[in-house]
Amino acid sequence: MPDYDYDLFVIGAGSGGTRASRVAAAHGAKVAVAEEYRVGGTCVIRGCVPKKLLVYGAHFAEDLRDAAQFGWDVPQPCAFDWKRLRDNVLAEVDRINGAYTQTLENNGVEIIPQRAVVTGPHSVRLADGSEKTAARILVAVGAHPAVPSCPGHEHGITSNEAFHLDAIPKRVLIAGAGYIANEFAGIFHQFGAHVIIMNRTQDILRGYDLSIRDRLLQISMMKGLEFRFDAAFEGIDKGEDGCLTVKMSNHEPVTVDMVMFATGRLPNTKGLGLETAGVDVDEKGAIKVDDRNRSTCESIFAIGDVTNRVQLTPVAIREGQAFADTFYGDKPTTVDYGCIPSAVFSHPPLAGVGMTESEAKQKLGSVAVYSSDFRPMKNVLAGRNERALYKMVCDGETGRIVGLHMIGPDVPEILQAAAIAVKAGLTKAQFDETVALHPTMAEELVLMR
Ligand code: NDP
Repeated sequence: MPDYDYDLFVIGAGSGGTRASRVAAAHGAKVAVAEEYRVGGTCVIRGCVPKKLLVYGAHFAEDLRDAAQFGWDVPQPCAFDWKRLRDNVLAEVDRINGAYTQTLENNGVEIIPQRAVVTGPHSVRLADGSEKTAARILVAVGAHPAVPSCPGHEHGITSNEAFHLDAIPKRVLIAGAGYIANEFAGIFHQFGAHVIIMNRTQDILRGYDLSIRDRLLQISMMKGLEFRFDAAFEGIDKGEDGCLTVKMSNHEPVTVDMVMFATGRLPNTKGLGLETAGVDVDEKGAIKVDDRNRSTCESIFAIGDVTNRVQLTPVAIREGQAFADTFYGDKPTTVDYGCIPSAVFSHPPLAGVGMTESEAKQKLGSVAVYSSDFRPMKNVLAGRNERALYKMVCDGETGRIVGLHMIGPDVPEILQAAAIAVKAGLTKAQFDETVALHPTMAEELVLMR
């Protein structure tokens, strides 16, 4: 065995890289992790965590308005201090960043706060010019926002910058209609901005069940969000007053104060030196790996968003755990990608697991669909005309639930529990055998018709 500096050198201390590093070290490996920005990665520093805190902050706008019907006199309009929320959120990010760093250190992982690039199957070069060697290299460098290359695109921001704004702009145009677009549309709208979502197709949140997406679209329009569909970016002009005029196909130009791109994320493989070790990437730059996370180079592995399999934090964590257990814990493990629940923290949120109705019809042929379309009692008393929709998709032959899709208050919390039953292969009849827990919204899961 050649004499390497480390058993494992991890590039990227995000969710996946951190998990792999600390578990491999706990199994006894000598591990270093290089991170060019901040330990925690996208999820902790500029993704899931600060986003969710902003979603909580945004919910107060409606809750404070609804409070009147519940007997509370709250002056309207209420004052909202964006900078206070922003700074509190950023302080929480600092705290979690510290906790992640501590966890790595407690497990004996050496943290190298520098960019590292691959220089061969067993070597990396750090930003300070030094070389390190390792028996295995794990690439967990994540992804970055993709920005369409239209003229004036440099005037737009991405979600990276959204957490640091000096003020909430009055008029916001968001390009894209996926996760980030719908989540930030809700956040900016609740903080008082006029929001326009534009997308190149007619779909929002492609991949989610059509009925659920339609419901979000209806509710969003009812709240005053605007949509421009079949709209391709033609350019952004910045006026002397700082306003941005966005030109797009099929629609009149729109003038706003801020443009945010939420048009997908691309793997961070550019300039990473992967070619020096024969690591193949696909047309999007994602590292190609097998089911043990091994790249086309025997000693180099990759997990998380850089592989563009499922761009979700808990999946990257699973991949990191599986990698460490397989190669350092004598416990060969592969990740099961079936029935991964996911949610969009829009206003209201939506969540889903398993096949959509149309997927099930294509794959299974015989399908039974049940639903519950209801107005949550809190919305009724508040006079809020927002209906929730739960939809269960079952195999028509066996009754097994193959998909569950929901939109309404707290559905990500409800779906996480229900996803266990879907993953376990339970049937509609077994759901119905469970007595309803009244009065809850979740009881609709066992009362669907
Ligand atoms: P999404 O893939 O969710 O959505 C991308 C949107 O941009 C789609 O509406 C797509 O259009 C459009 N689009 C894609 N490419 C282009 C292009 N070249 N020009 C114009 N429009 C384009 O990406 P997001 O950026 O919203 O999020 C990235 C990923 O991060 C998500 O896929 C998700 O995995 C993850 N994420 C997860 C969250 C969660 O779990 N709650 C929250 C935020 C992000 P169309 O579909 O019509 O083709």
